[in-house]
Amino acid sequence: AKLTGTNRHREHSPELDATAQHHAELAAALRRGLDHGEFRLLYQPIVELPSGAVIGVEALVRWHPADGPVVSPAEFIPVAEHSGLIIDLGAWIIDTACADAAVWQHRHGANSPRVNINVSARQLLDPDLPGLVADALHRHGLTPDRITIEITETAVFAGGAALSTVRELRDLGVGVALDDFGTGHSSLTLLRTCPVTTLKVDKSFIDDLNGTAEQEAIATSLSTIASTLGLRAVAEGVETLDQATRLHDLGYRYAQGYYFARPAPADQIDAVLNAPVPV
Ligand code: C2E
Ligand code: CA
Ligand code: CA
Ligand code: CA
Repeated sequence: AKLTGTNRHREHSPELDATAQHHAELAAALRRGLDHGEFRLLYQPIVELPSGAVIGVEALVRWHPADGPVVSPAEFIPVAEHSGLIIDLGAWIIDTACADAAVWQHRHGANSPRVNINVSARQLLDPDLPGLVADALHRHGLTPDRITIEITETAVFAGGAALSTVRELRDLGVGVALDDFGTGHSSLTLLRTCPVTTLKVDKSFIDDLNGTAEQEAIATSLSTIASTLGLRAVAEGVETLDQATRLHDLGYRYAQGYYFARPAPADQIDAVLNAPVPV
């Protein structure tokens, strides 16, 4: 049949509209949530092997809407990214994490846990990010070596500005960790140009540590790359004693996962500092 003018218009998709509307509503609810103080940070310990001593914690955000159950970041971070709210939410996360880190530094001095803060692609493209971090450090009287910014490969490759932002963060004296290491398309290429201090070896490589020679070889190589380059390697998502023991045997010095501790509110971290889970 011959196409008429109207037929050539793009098919109207009610499904797409519904998704777009859901996102718009969620974005508005997130904005209200931020204004009403509905976000909380949990902290998950990062431990040294085999002592289990807590050397750091990763800040993980949660949303507690007034009228519903807690929402996980996997659901709302993408919407916050897309709507641009991640800039204001990210500023709140940085400020709150630095405030908690300052309390721990005051209490434990040189033994206080380093606080890892996740930043998303859009935050890393924001030229104000290093200034924001410097300002938070200054306001809370925190030394830069107590903070590590976690970035992803996707974020670094999102634009040229991201790389110079990473350099500026390093110039401030804060650490930079490459998150989900090994899952991207050019993880090794990135190490040539991006001055990170830590590699967080993705959970997928840790899950597969079931004793086959290939899986062990990959996990070993990832920790060897880190140590050869003078970087720390942290094994992510460690759930069992067996995994922890094997990782230690394979040369890993640092690990994080439910086996050691689940993410917990700041006021519960002191208890974890005093009760390490040795391997
Ligand atoms: P991620 O940065 O890779 O964080 C690790 C995730 O794995 C966290 O999920 C953590 O709770 C979970 N996890 C830790 N140990 C284990 C384990 O042993 N087993 C299993 N199955 N999971 C484990 P969470 O808190 O739901 O965060 C999901 C993702 O949301 C994070 O992945 C990160 O990409 C993002 N995210 C979380 N907090 C923030 C934040 O403050 N800012 C930004 N931009 N993104 C965040
Ligand atoms: Ca992370
Ligand atoms: Ca990760
Ligand atoms: Ca992840």
